[in-house]
Amino acid sequence: MRSVPAERGVAFDHLSGDRVDLIGLDRAGMVTLFESIGEKRFRALQLLKWVHQRRVHDFHAMTDLAKPLRARLAALCRVDLPRVEAEELSTDGTRKWLLRLADGNAVETVFIPEAKRGTLCVSSQAGCAMGCAFCATAAATTAAAARVVRNLTTAEIAGQIHIAVQRLPAAAVTNVVFMGMGEPLLNLNAVVTASRIFTDDDAFGLSKRRVTISTSGVVPALERLRHLTDVSLAVSLHAPDNALRDRLVPLNRKYPLERLLPACHDYIRDKHPRRITWEYVMLDGVNDSDDHARRLAKRLRDIPSKVNLIPFNPYPGAAFRCSPDSRIRRFADILAERGMTATVRASRGGDIGGACGQLVGRLQGEEDGSRCGGRKEGMAVAAR
Ligand code: SAH
Ligand code: SF4
Repeated sequence: MRSVPAERGVAFDHLSGDRVDLIGLDRAGMVTLFESIGEKRFRALQLLKWVHQRRVHDFHAMTDLAKPLRARLAALCRVDLPRVEAEELSTDGTRKWLLRLADGNAVETVFIPEAKRGTLCVSSQAGCAMGCAFCATAAATTAAAARVVRNLTTAEIAGQIHIAVQRLPAAAVTNVVFMGMGEPLLNLNAVVTASRIFTDDDAFGLSKRRVTISTSGVVPALERLRHLTDVSLAVSLHAPDNALRDRLVPLNRKYPLERLLPACHDYIRDKHPRRITWEYVMLDGVNDSDDHARRLAKRLRDIPSKVNLIPFNPYPGAAFRCSPDSRIRRFADILAERGMTATVRASRGGDIGGACGQLVGRLQGEEDGSRCGGRKEGMAVAAR
């Protein structure tokens, strides 16, 4: 795999008076910073470890850096995390944090503990412009006409793991999924750089297999992604054909299945034995028939795949209902009979707002009547 620094060419603006937020720098970013201020490159590794591995954010406590360098860094750089506005803990151990960003936007981060792993669900944008028919983030973005969707910075994405790790037992976070608010592939550089911070052994040290980018199918960005990273990929499919997917995921009108599926296949082609996780939200009477299941299996036949069936998470004003459990099980069985791995996502954190996004909705609902999210209850559990 060719590795290209995602933010190569970022000019550090230390002369303008804006201090660089070190939370947003991966290894390459730290090197660029040190070179740009005329310091030795190897210092970058020391700083990477202090900031992301030891999570010491006071320059004066960085004892293996000479005192004048510490003072210089304190003058040129900063270490800022989003403000935690609310924290909720579910009876099942799921935790959610509502984070307030410097410009007043709010995003959510959710931690889902399971027996053998702990998954952190991070946001990549404030809001989402993709307009999927069943998604509360989309509904909220449309309702809040004044609220502009914006990309989170690398620091705002990486800040989410810092906040979680500070508040959880050591080594609790084993997986990160980009399944919070936003479309990660519309914020490619920041998402890739944040992924490098998650996976660098001198930072958070997570396995690449345990970091998953979830996308609604931004094909050109997907084609670039495979040259930038080899983290895991989840694709929000939700339909076996274009006619239905056009309705559920409007982006499909721009990048139909004939383009999306080969781009996904290409992503894993040189990453054997990896496979794509297809997300498929179960909508009662819409995409959940036996015929849909059979056609889905046929469509994905040649791609190493796992299908993750997600019970639809309702929210006020939603136009859909979740398929009955028996229908979800039957759908999974049909896929399994055709040799596909099919799992059903477990519901988690129901008592604290159901899923990622609802906390933002609850706290902001009074402001603009919006409701965000309504999903992301953790990773798959076996259907049968
Ligand atoms: N924008 C990206 C990642 C965030 S959404 C994407 O669409 O993939 C993460 C997952 O939650 C997606 O699979 C999305 O389709 C699903 N989702 C959105 N709204 C949902 C709802 N109300 N119930 C269940 N899943 C939902
Ligand atoms: Fe955006 Fe994903 Fe929601 Fe679609 S499902 S509107 S891409 S967050």
